[in-house]
Amino acid sequence: MSVRAPYLAARLQGFGTTIFSEMTALAVAHDAVNLGQGFPDENPPQAALDAAKAAMDAGHNQYAPGPGVPVLRQAIADHQQRVHGLTFDPDDEVTVTFGATEAVAATILALCEVGDEVVVLEPTYDAYTAVIAMAGAVERRVALTPPAPVDVWAGPDPDGGGSASELDAWHLDVDRLAAAIGPRTRVLLLNSPHNPTGTVLDAATLDAIAALCVEHDLIAVTDEVYEHLVYDGEHLPLATRAGMRERTVTISSAGKTFSCTGWKTGWACASPALSSALRTTKQFLSFAGGTPLQHGVAAALEAGPSLTDRVGALHRQRRDLLVDGLLELGVPTTRSAGTYFVTGDLSAVGFDDGEAFCRQAPEAFGVAAVPVSAFVRDAAPVRSLVRFAICKDDAVLADGLERLAGLRTVAG
Ligand code: PMP
Ligand code: GLN
Repeated sequence: MSVRAPYLAARLQGFGTTIFSEMTALAVAHDAVNLGQGFPDENPPQAALDAAKAAMDAGHNQYAPGPGVPVLRQAIADHQQRVHGLTFDPDDEVTVTFGATEAVAATILALCEVGDEVVVLEPTYDAYTAVIAMAGAVERRVALTPPAPVDVWAGPDPDGGGSASELDAWHLDVDRLAAAIGPRTRVLLLNSPHNPTGTVLDAATLDAIAALCVEHDLIAVTDEVYEHLVYDGEHLPLATRAGMRERTVTISSAGKTFSCTGWKTGWACASPALSSALRTTKQFLSFAGGTPLQHGVAAALEAGPSLTDRVGALHRQRRDLLVDGLLELGVPTTRSAGTYFVTGDLSAVGFDDGEAFCRQAPEAFGVAAVPVSAFVRDAAPVRSLVRFAICKDDAVLADGLERLAGLRTVAG
């Protein structure tokens, strides 16, 4: 279906423009409420802004050391210790990157031979697929089980009451993961809390995954950018499970935790040997980025739980506001355990095709969202599912819900 892009190398054909850019462009064009791309409205914490500005004024405007400014590497190591009980040496085991995206890219490019297999969860965050292709590696997807469909909404009841039922959480069947591992598997690239489904893997699941990694001698690369955006249960890094500390590259980012997605400050924590490998590639991707911003993130991490707990509490409220509102509109929705996102099933209100809905919605309803089908190869089982972002001010979420009130009319 896709047209061959001129000049672009064969291994990158078909990637086009990301769904996030596409939906944001539609949101801007139609002045829509953007519940598509995951970025918050608020500014980063004042402590981070002050420290970044002070760093600029103090002359921290040239290249950082390749692995990151020492004060940030120390703050990352302290955070890992304090929050997760993981000990990392800031000199040899912590690498600051240009966002989690660069950390994932540097790691996959460093670890994979051409033809090696990388196992990922599906729905799959788009950057993983692209970087696996850049590395000449082969992606093996393990499909999460989507929520079972629930009641078709009967339309507005005459008293104005009635709402849809919640959707169950998406679910990882570890046997399916086991079945995807073969002789060429090199890396398991795991994302929890998981974008786009909002699922948070529990201790038993992580232990089963750890056992598979040990049995098959795999390296785990974990994308934990939503580590502080957990509303039910808790986030446990895979590196805390038996046998995993030495075989895991633990990746995170300041973007979501401190509402600074534009700062693109991320990090990778791993054994000295794994860190050395990913540093080799990282130095030729960006070398080092955002020196004053690294100081800003260090200050935010050093502020401790007051800032990291705040973001979780804030987004729990936002999740409930959006989920309750969507349910009232007759859209069965997951009350996600984590992340910036919830999944709504639009079939109950008469839209069987989530992608078609998302292309029309900015103009038709003044709201942008992202179809779950953009994250999968076979759209059929998720065709009517749409990802809505919760990471917006209450007033913006309320405005979005008000605009979506038209769904009731369509369904009724
Ligand atoms: N991983 C996941 C799962 C994401 O949702 C995102 C988007 N925020 C990223 C990585 C990118 O993180 P960064 O902006 O720090 O590169
Ligand atoms: N992670 C963000 C999302 O899922 C998007 C980041 C991007 O636009 N590349 O919405």
